[in-house]
Amino acid sequence: MAETATEKVVLVTGGSRGIGASIVRRLAADGARVFFTYNASADRANALISELGGAARVEAVKADISKAEDVEALIKHVSEAAGRIDVLVNNAGITRDTLLMRMSEEDWDAVLTTNLKGAFLMCKAVSRPMMRQRSGRIINIGSIVGLAGNAGQVNYSASKAGLVGLTKSLAKELASRNILVNCIAPGYVQTDMTDKLGEKQIADLTNSIPLRRSAQAEEIAGVVAFFASDDASYLTGQVLNADGGLAL
Ligand code: NDP
Repeated sequence: MAETATEKVVLVTGGSRGIGASIVRRLAADGARVFFTYNASADRANALISELGGAARVEAVKADISKAEDVEALIKHVSEAAGRIDVLVNNAGITRDTLLMRMSEEDWDAVLTTNLKGAFLMCKAVSRPMMRQRSGRIINIGSIVGLAGNAGQVNYSASKAGLVGLTKSLAKELASRNILVNCIAPGYVQTDMTDKLGEKQIADLTNSIPLRRSAQAEEIAGVVAFFASDDASYLTGQVLNADGGLAL
């Protein structure tokens, strides 16, 4: 069994729902002290805290990761409260799907600003405490469409492809300080984000996955736990497809 993130201080963006909430549950169960962000879903964040109450040290912090001032305040709070940050999981993300011909500049900016600039701001803010510690893990949640592309998602797939370049470049920049930077590229995971898909889209998608099913968010959380663990100590700059074989 993979050694887990025992007693590490972990920060997960977008932990209020979906994959992020599963990552929070998993890393808390593994014994980490977990801070997670929410933006619009205060009710869901509170529900998760109640669910995990007493079982682990978990704290929710409101922060819009696309705003530099929110990110700075977030990292200051976690650093002061916990004294260190061992693992950052850049999970928060949005979609604004439509064909290029209909895509507004606002749709483009919203997705790139949250998914890519947000991750940049988080990496930059967290790199200072991690460099001081001379250790750290950054785990970016990309997407298989950042590698393969997808009609109707030029903004989203560009943001996720950008995360791959960010991951690889930052892995090179921070390796000498023992900070490992990796990316997980999920395929189709059942969450609010994919609830918008129609029945036919779901059937077509599922049929194109060699494992013939979507992933449960817990299965992505398991991959995050691996990248956060001591077993992943020689991995950096990697993109791991967690997609049931979709991209094969
Ligand atoms: P959900 O839509 O279920 O959840 C998105 C999360 O991101 C929420 O917690 C939300 O918080 C948070 N968030 C959104 N915008 C911001 C912001 N500006 N600042 C802070 N937090 C924000 O998405 P999923 O769980 O499905 O996706 C999680 C990640 O996995 C995303 O990066 C997504 O791109 C990626 N992914 C998902 C796949 C899928 O099939 N579901 C496939 C491949 C990748 P709040 O509600 O509080 O605002």
